[in-house]
Amino acid sequence: MNIIIFGPPGAGKGTQSKFIVNKFDLYQLSTGDLLRNEIKNKTQLGSEISSIINSGELVSDKIVGNLIEKFVSNEAYKHKIIFDGYPRTLIQAKNLDDLLKKYKQKIDIVLKLSVSLETVKKRIFERQAQEKRADDNEEIAIKRYKTYEKSSEPLIDYYKQSNLLKVVNGEAGITEINSEISRLIDTIKG
Ligand code: AMP
Repeated sequence: MNIIIFGPPGAGKGTQSKFIVNKFDLYQLSTGDLLRNEIKNKTQLGSEISSIINSGELVSDKIVGNLIEKFVSNEAYKHKIIFDGYPRTLIQAKNLDDLLKKYKQKIDIVLKLSVSLETVKKRIFERQAQEKRADDNEEIAIKRYKTYEKSSEPLIDYYKQSNLLKVVNGEAGITEINSEISRLIDTIKG
């Protein structure tokens, strides 16, 4: 089973992905984490992308596409990936379909966590104190939310058409969201 989880910054993608990973024995592929690692490790790629990430814009489709191929092509993760924060654009979604096809895989369910801008601001403010992410401040959080809204619209239509999209109320408490997600995954597992 391969899963996509998406939603605006602060929607709880990371928290819910970790829960799903443990419960369903999957591997979490967070493009945000992979990109932050490049910056932390001061790689060439890291220096190219740090200003983009810190301004709340999206990194190019080509860069993230290259990062995810390493995982999709790895037998150890076959049918076991939860894509956290990828795809974020329609082009990425189509690239992902092609890539999965190349490795004889597919997406089984797309979970969209819906939260309001007000909630996002509140959560980012809380997370800022704990994680100290350079892109977690109110101004950039608003920018990231707007970037998400703009780029995710065609994505949502795309996954609605293929009947894979399930919308989850991201305003609910963590355990309620855990249960709802488990229920949805159980239904597709049959
Ligand atoms: P996240 O941790 O998912 O909130 O991602 C943090 C930042 O990394 C985003 O604001 C983007 O700048 C970048 N990023 C993460 N995933 C992607 C993606 N799929 N496409 C483009 N940029 C991304």
